[in-house]
Amino acid sequence: MHTLGWIGLGHMGAPMAMNLLQEGCQVNVYNRSLEKITALVEAGATPLPSPKEIVKQSDITFMMLSDSHAVKSVLAQENGVLEAIKPGKILVDMSTISPEDSLSNAEFVSERGGVYLDAPVSGSVGAAIGRQLVILVGGDKTALEICQPYFQLLGKKTIHFGSNSKGSSAKLAINLLLGVIGQGLGETLLFAEKSGLEKEKVLEMISFSSMNTPLFQGKKEMYLKGEYPSAFMLELMAKDLGLIKAEANRLETRLPLAEQANVTYRSAKENGKAKLDMAAVYLELKDQNNIKE
Ligand code: NAP
Repeated sequence: MHTLGWIGLGHMGAPMAMNLLQEGCQVNVYNRSLEKITALVEAGATPLPSPKEIVKQSDITFMMLSDSHAVKSVLAQENGVLEAIKPGKILVDMSTISPEDSLSNAEFVSERGGVYLDAPVSGSVGAAIGRQLVILVGGDKTALEICQPYFQLLGKKTIHFGSNSKGSSAKLAINLLLGVIGQGLGETLLFAEKSGLEKEKVLEMISFSSMNTPLFQGKKEMYLKGEYPSAFMLELMAKDLGLIKAEANRLETRLPLAEQANVTYRSAKENGKAKLDMAAVYLELKDQNNIKE
């Protein structure tokens, strides 16, 4: 069994690292804000003082960080990941970042003799807790085979899309769908409300229709109660739609729905909804139509 390292214990990283611990893996942990490591350490994880120490003392290091900026900083900072990369080390980046950044991170790691996998995930906090994530991988097949026993403890399916950056491209593709569906649900509820329909019955209608999904069931209570505690923070959805827009521009591809969703989520973020769940895009649509919750 390999010694594992985990950097980034936020909404997603903490339950994922916990699942590895609960299966008897040896896990070294690091998080920028110290308080988030407490529960993991109580469950048997070893706290280490820097990303460099994590890589030094682990065979495989997983990262689950907010965005490209966070990943770059953890890689290149003093006592960062790159200082300890050497032949034999595997770095698995599960953060959602751009395909271009995944590619350049892979090059930095390979220049030092290590192997980098981009392995972002589809599925939110509930799926992370319940090991139901879908893991989307770009990078070396042999390294993936080494990591697969651990991916199996984190999710229900691993899909290898090919070389480095392809996992990140796949993640942006699935989140394009997520963002558009999120806005579609918000607009459906808004339209129903303006038409004088009872919200509870509209939610029931969707639940019994062919448009019912695990995603909708996960958000239904939020719409009903008008409360949006974050599972997938709206600011992260806005970040992903920004990445999708940049990537679509690079690929010279027009995506009308994604473009519109990018505008709406960005305005929701700017109007004080950044830390709410992405389902709060519905609140933004209501605000834009001067409707009180
Ligand atoms: P989160 O709760 O905000 O956690 C972000 C993590 O990144 C925290 O550990 C945070 O450390 C760390 N971080 C941020 N900036 C940093 C920096 N400059 N240096 C060092 N560490 C830094 O986010 P999350 O919901 O777990 O999401 C993590 C990633 O998974 C994101 O890329 C997101 O898009 C993706 N994702 C999320 C979901 C979801 O439903 N939440 C689903 C699929 C994919 P601190 O604790 O110190 O802030």
